[in-house]
Amino acid sequence: MDISRMTEEQKMIVGFTKDFAKKFNREYWLSKARVREFPVEMWKELGKSGYIGMMVPTEYGGAGYGLNELRILLQSLAEQGLVTLAFITHPMGQILLVRHGTEEQKRKYLPNMCSGESYFSFAITEADAGTNSYKIKTFAEREGDHYVLNGQKVFISGAKESDHMVVIARTKPYEEVKDIDKRKGFSIFIVDTKAKGLSMDEIETDLLMIPEKQYIVYFDNVKVPVEDRVGEEDRGFFYLFDLLNVERIVTACTCIGVGKYVLNKAVNYAKERIIFDDPIGAYQAVQHPLARSYVNLELAELVTERAATAFDNKENPQIVGKYTNIAKLVASEFAYKACDVAIQVHGGYGFVTEYDIITCLAWLRTARVAPVNNEMILNFIGQHILGLPKSY
Ligand SMILES: Cc1cc2nc3c(=O)[nH]c(=O)nc-3n(C[C@H](O)[C@H](O)[C@H](O)COP(=O)(O)OP(=O)(O)OC[C@H]3O[C@@H](n4cnc5c(N)ncnc54)[C@H](O)[C@@H]3O)c2cc1C
Repeated sequence: MDISRMTEEQKMIVGFTKDFAKKFNREYWLSKARVREFPVEMWKELGKSGYIGMMVPTEYGGAGYGLNELRILLQSLAEQGLVTLAFITHPMGQILLVRHGTEEQKRKYLPNMCSGESYFSFAITEADAGTNSYKIKTFAEREGDHYVLNGQKVFISGAKESDHMVVIARTKPYEEVKDIDKRKGFSIFIVDTKAKGLSMDEIETDLLMIPEKQYIVYFDNVKVPVEDRVGEEDRGFFYLFDLLNVERIVTACTCIGVGKYVLNKAVNYAKERIIFDDPIGAYQAVQHPLARSYVNLELAELVTERAATAFDNKENPQIVGKYTNIAKLVASEFAYKACDVAIQVHGGYGFVTEYDIITCLAWLRTARVAPVNNEMILNFIGQHILGLPKSY
């Protein structure tokens, strides 16, 4: 990572990740990812450092820094092969509470979220709505001092392992609001994953080498106290924009980190592997794609830093949205490409367990689909930045 323009605190974060990765190294991570087991020890140790609560104010147990520092932490951990989907979902819950929670909610949830005692998953996706989140149907009906939640979510990462889930549900049916303002009628809840009526089924996936499992989550008359609704009723979608920006930037920096992890391996391999008379890295057909990957990942890092800075400085939402979307798009595409190049450079060894290259491919590929597919990002750029007609 480029530390030349970093503050002393940011350099300390990079230094911390290097020490951290000596204790929880890639081998440890692989041992968890292979059996899809959440790395609890790693999570708790990270909690002790205070960095899990990077963006949470110190009065609630956090580190009191910004998204740029979180970006640095996560990219630097990913450069050493350490990533989890919790690094993406958990900060979203924190930002939700920090920006929109009541004082009581902050005191209740944030300290444990920062210490690593609790882990938050995030649930918006539904099978019938997919990318079109306006069409979600999970419904929260107010009954006195609580809501009754019914519906189901899909692809919820780490749902079973998490203690709480941020759930986006409707509090007004789509039909009632669609002609007024389709962003209205959503509310956001913090739901205890052990609540009565909440159940889950694991979604079986192949190849995906990450510590978390994915789940379908069912809500069958789940009671959620009114005090666990975050923000105003029906205005949940407006709070989502902050969270989705964080989600995209965090996804971008983890992709860049993993991209650099495989690029480093490929460069080292290209220096050592001699098949004809020279190391294979002497051949332009090998060297240029590696150089291209390096350039691409540096560019992605620059734009991700710009996006995080825009978020931290609360710049115009249009500017934040522009850089955030560009960052997610280029980071996911360039990192995936870097992994493909690294496989090619390794030849047959790119598929061998010991070399730990192919292990990164599916994870990087998912980032072009989730948390938002890259086509939706291009739709955003086309429509909102270039002023072209809505294309879907
Ligand atoms: C590993 C993983 C982890 C995930 N974790 C979570 C989680 O923790 N919580 C959560 O809520 N969700 C999670 N998701 C869900 C993820 O956000 C969705 O898969 C994603 O939003 C796309 O929805 P979909 O799969 O239904 O695709 P669909 O909406 O069916 O889209 C399919 C494809 O159609 C294309 N497409 C769709 N709409 C358009 C359009 N308007 N213009 C152009 N092309 C379009 C895109 O290529 C897209 O990939 C996760 C997914 C994965 C794979």
